[in-house]
Amino acid sequence: MFEYAPAPESVRPQIKEHYGIFIDGEFVDAESDFKSVNPATEEVLFTVAEAGEADVAKAVAAARRAYETVWGPMSGTERGKYLFRIARLLQERAREFAVAESLDNGKPIKETRDFDVPTAAQHFFYHAGWADKLAYAGHGGDPKPLGVVGQVIPWNFPLLMLAWKIAPALACGNTVVLKPAETTPLTALMFAELCQEADLPPGVVNILPGAGAAGAAVVGSAVDKVAFTGSTAVGRAIAKAVAGSKKKVTLELGGKAANIVFDDAPIDQAVEGIVNGIFFNQGHVCCAGSRLLVQESVADDVLERLKERVATLRVGDPLDKNTDIGAINSAEQLERITALTEAGRGEGADVWQPACDLPEQGFWFRPTVFTGVQQSMRIAQEEIFGPVLSVLTFRTPDEAIAKANNTPYGLSAGVWTEKGSKILWAAERLRAGVVWANTFNKFDAASPFGGLKESGYGREGGRQGLEAYLDV
Ligand code: NDP
Repeated sequence: MFEYAPAPESVRPQIKEHYGIFIDGEFVDAESDFKSVNPATEEVLFTVAEAGEADVAKAVAAARRAYETVWGPMSGTERGKYLFRIARLLQERAREFAVAESLDNGKPIKETRDFDVPTAAQHFFYHAGWADKLAYAGHGGDPKPLGVVGQVIPWNFPLLMLAWKIAPALACGNTVVLKPAETTPLTALMFAELCQEADLPPGVVNILPGAGAAGAAVVGSAVDKVAFTGSTAVGRAIAKAVAGSKKKVTLELGGKAANIVFDDAPIDQAVEGIVNGIFFNQGHVCCAGSRLLVQESVADDVLERLKERVATLRVGDPLDKNTDIGAINSAEQLERITALTEAGRGEGADVWQPACDLPEQGFWFRPTVFTGVQQSMRIAQEEIFGPVLSVLTFRTPDEAIAKANNTPYGLSAGVWTEKGSKILWAAERLRAGVVWANTFNKFDAASPFGGLKESGYGREGGRQGLEAYLDV
């Protein structure tokens, strides 16, 4: 194997020492601040004002004003122009956003550069196109916006989740109040600057950094709709909090996806898909293929090739263009991953990790493969949200489906086989919002995404995703 020389990314974004809350088109200070840390080095990147209940109320009032006086009455064609402008500015500043995201989140630069930022821009381009065509989206001839939308997003794809939430909301004529995750507010704050640069009318987008309490305040405020992505536990709390109110809700929650490899699958291709399925973004992916279900007759072969491939993954500096697996986003998340991995060992599964050096500073976890996994084990049922794969085997297609569906979640699944008929047969039976065939973790703004069962409800993206932001 070749030894790679380090190839560090040279662009450095202009990160301010301190950011305020973004309300009504301006950055303002709050009663308290918190720090954002680079998870790869544990260095403080910047401080940021923490939104309290009063700030949330101010932001919602600003968003309401903007909705009633500017954004709501504006024609779709004009709204579309703003969205196109935002998309283009994101493209222009793509490199800077990519580096900032890697610094604040810990994910590898090749992912932020090639996936997060371009896909975020794509969401704005795609929804800019819908802004003046909503009457043809299949949600009635004269669809109306909902009003002010409260949005709470997680730390695993900070900018992309922002784009998933803000682009359709604005395209449909709503204004937004968005709370980024406590550990990753940077690109949301840079996005707020970008809104200023795009001359977006004040109050249309408000960004409220803070912790869980700020999220709860957004949910409890006078918004017309709540859109949340995050853990099932918090999603449940949000569903309870809004029950009985007129607020519309969409919840995109956890997952424990099965990636099913049948014995007729192209094995090398499947191995790449397994690796991408679970090690992309350190496994911090709600739709990660965290359970590999492999047909018994090819299991030894698949596992051997999989371990050989995983041993080549490079763990380390997120800003090195060679890095495959970056830092775990926070000490808390590292603790959760470690605890669940220990639970797997304790329950008797066999653990395998490649020999690789980890940096001394920062939060790191080796890519991990569990074999001998039983369905009842916690590592087969619970979302680990880290680079940890649980491998189970099956003998017949029916057994594969039964095992795949045997979790409380239903977000995504993968099927690997050379037979189209088997793909369709499996897709019909898998209880998952998204099923990938002979690929994994593929996303497109035109393709709706969302879950079944405890993975939540509502769709994001595509024509279907517009419904969540329209009064239909
Ligand atoms: P959370 O669900 O707690 O975080 C998601 C967002 O919700 C964050 O912005 C968070 O703020 C906010 N939040 C927290 N509590 C509340 C509340 N009561 N009301 C409203 N908003 C709230 O996820 P965690 O970051 O705590 O991660 C825990 C686990 O959740 C992970 O290990 C993983 O299994 C799962 N997870 C799943 C995700 C997915 O996409 N499916 C995404 C993230 C996590 P703050 O950042 O301050 O906590």
